Amino acid sequence: MTEQRAVSISGLVKRFGSAEVLHGIDLEVSTGEVVVLVGPSGSGKSTLLRTINLLERPTAGRISVCGHALTFDSAARQEREEIAVTRAIRAKTAMVFQSFNLFPHMTALANVAEGLVSVKRMTRREAEAEAMNLLDRMALAHKAAEYPATLSGGQKQRVAIARSLAMRPQVMLFDEPTSALDPELRSEVLTVLREIAASGMTMLIVTHEMAFAREIADRVVFMDEGSIRFAGPPEGFFQTADPRISKFRSAILL
Ligand code: ADP
Ligand code: MG
Repeated sequence: MTEQRAVSISGLVKRFGSAEVLHGIDLEVSTGEVVVLVGPSGSGKSTLLRTINLLERPTAGRISVCGHALTFDSAARQEREEIAVTRAIRAKTAMVFQSFNLFPHMTALANVAEGLVSVKRMTRREAEAEAMNLLDRMALAHKAAEYPATLSGGQKQRVAIARSLAMRPQVMLFDEPTSALDPELRSEVLTVLREIAASGMTMLIVTHEMAFAREIADRVVFMDEGSIRFAGPPEGFFQTADPRISKFRSAILL
């Protein structure tokens, strides 16, 4: 049976101490869908991505990724099941951060090959061949032997994306993948994101790049103060007269 919903979230609550930062999020993402998450700083976008792959443990609610589901309730914890399902969900998802997080002491090739050896149990030779294919897909084959310090920000981010793709995730989570880059380097990362979307990958992308969002998103989700205020096709997001959304749009489109 094919799982139509790559990600299914219901009633997701996240508290940090007494501060509730996600107030019961409901979100369904279909297989192959590209969802762009937007919203003001502090609205909970990163926290939502981090709870989807369980880098943060939800306080309450249900999360299902590719059929692996967990219900969170601080009263009843099923530890062993939670650990197993968490591992399964992490294996299905990959997260790409604003800040690349490459290993500085490894070449671009070794950064991409590392997980293939340690997680996927490939031989070093198989892993390097696969890593080389992925670097080639990122138009970075010629940088395979370089260390991160010698790469531009856009090149580093493309190595990080290749490293994520190497794990063959079903769902990719991007948290402001171009925000740390100079404007002239952003387009090379956006080009790679377009290509991944065209390959049929399920993607959730947090970004402030509105033109890109409009072009690539099947759906735009607008978050404000820990809740989803809008979820729908990009045209709807760019046309709605909702005062919070038009305020956000005019602030960011300046
Ligand atoms: P966004 O990504 O939309 O800017 P975040 O998800 O990073 O928003 O943050 C949402 C809210 O949660 C903010 O008020 C932030 O200060 C708070 N927050 C995020 N992470 C933590 C944490 N580890 N501990 C305490 N508060 C946090
Ligand atoms: Mg954030």
